[in-house]
Amino acid sequence: MTPLFDRIDAVPPLSEQERQLLDSVRALAADEIAPRAAQYDRAGEFPWENIQAINALGLNAMFVPEEYGGAGLSYAAYLACVREISAACASTGIIWATNFHASKPLIDFGSEEQKRRLLPRVAEGALCALAITEPDAGSDATGMRTRFTPDGDMVVVDGGKIFITSGDVADLILLFGKWAELPDGRGAITALVLEKDTAGLRVLRTEEKLGHRASSTAALAFDGCRVPRANLLGAPGDGLRQLLAALNKSRPSVAAHALGIARAAFGDAVAYINERRQSGRRIVEFQGIQFLLADLATDLAMCEAWLWHVAGLVDAGESDIGPEASMLKMRASDLAMRAATEAVQLYGGYGYIADNRVERLLRDAKITQIWEGTNQLHRQLIGRSFIARK
Ligand SMILES: Cc1cc2nc3c(=O)[nH]c(=O)nc-3n(C[C@H](O)[C@H](O)[C@H](O)COP(=O)(O)OP(=O)(O)OC[C@H]3O[C@@H](n4cnc5c(N)ncnc54)[C@H](O)[C@@H]3O)c2cc1C
Repeated sequence: MTPLFDRIDAVPPLSEQERQLLDSVRALAADEIAPRAAQYDRAGEFPWENIQAINALGLNAMFVPEEYGGAGLSYAAYLACVREISAACASTGIIWATNFHASKPLIDFGSEEQKRRLLPRVAEGALCALAITEPDAGSDATGMRTRFTPDGDMVVVDGGKIFITSGDVADLILLFGKWAELPDGRGAITALVLEKDTAGLRVLRTEEKLGHRASSTAALAFDGCRVPRANLLGAPGDGLRQLLAALNKSRPSVAAHALGIARAAFGDAVAYINERRQSGRRIVEFQGIQFLLADLATDLAMCEAWLWHVAGLVDAGESDIGPEASMLKMRASDLAMRAATEAVQLYGGYGYIADNRVERLLRDAKITQIWEGTNQLHRQLIGRSFIARK
């Protein structure tokens, strides 16, 4: 078979240490995470064994800087690991990636004292959650109502969040709300770190879902939670800037996650149609099927090349990558959905049966078009970037 994907995988300029780590992640994904994925999905159970295995490998450390107990590896290496884990189990992939999404603002905007206090915990394997969405603030997060009211050395948090990945199990929650002393609006958005077991933090429910059934998605309530002011990220009102910067790093990450699903679906489909025979021929020998494969493989190759382009920008220190990140997130997630749908089609009736992984991949793919900004929103962001500033 063509080595084209092997050649694309060789594109990111990973160090020897990063290549070795990626090999270990591949082995972990193949030997432990993938074999457990179907059972966790079916039971809708949080994949604790996978998280323990990830922590045994010390994977959180790769995105934490060395001076705070991490290994400080490249963003490209991180994305490559997200893709591998997500191909094996999309739920485990998003749980691990969320640790990065929630701790990146702390790495970029936290004070020295906060980083010394909190990041070693992340490096050692703490679970993290990023809490933005509220019932009336989805695509437009600026409508959030969660309130932060200062009270001496403490900040009192009131409000609630919905759809928070790992919200019920997280050790640290990076929480966005509005500073009560500032006029309501985007200028009031502020971020702080809320720690597990804070009095007044309640898990209202975890959602039953179509896919990502092993990843928990929680509705949270904050009833007068008292958080030390020392956990405030930057100054009151800095939140929107921090949020937008955080999304520029998390969107390529959810794209890598979606590409893991797309790769898995494409791989499963190709393997299946090389074996399955009808009318005396292998399915892959029918020209109509080859055209379908050609289109999928081409789009996958282009999208993966763009993934490494964006990774290269980030590793070179470029932070103003909003349109590039949106393009990547939008294309990768649309491709995950298309590849998974076509994989089910290529399996015929067997694709609809839960015994085959493509059935799960199809269910897991859908949310990638919705979270981290729906794809409609990304089209707007990309289009808007061409409006000349006058
Ligand atoms: C499984 C899961 C996990 C999640 N994890 C997290 C998490 O960890 N942290 C977190 O904060 N959030 C999380 N979310 C929330 C997710 O990011 C939101 O669901 C998403 O941003 C969309 O918001 P909404 O659901 O309120 O949809 P809405 O904003 O109500 O959108 C509804 C529809 O209207 C469209 N629409 C909205 N505005 C426009 C517009 N201006 N132009 C055109 N179309 C528009 C949307 O594209 C969509 O199709 C998660 C959600 C799910 C389901």
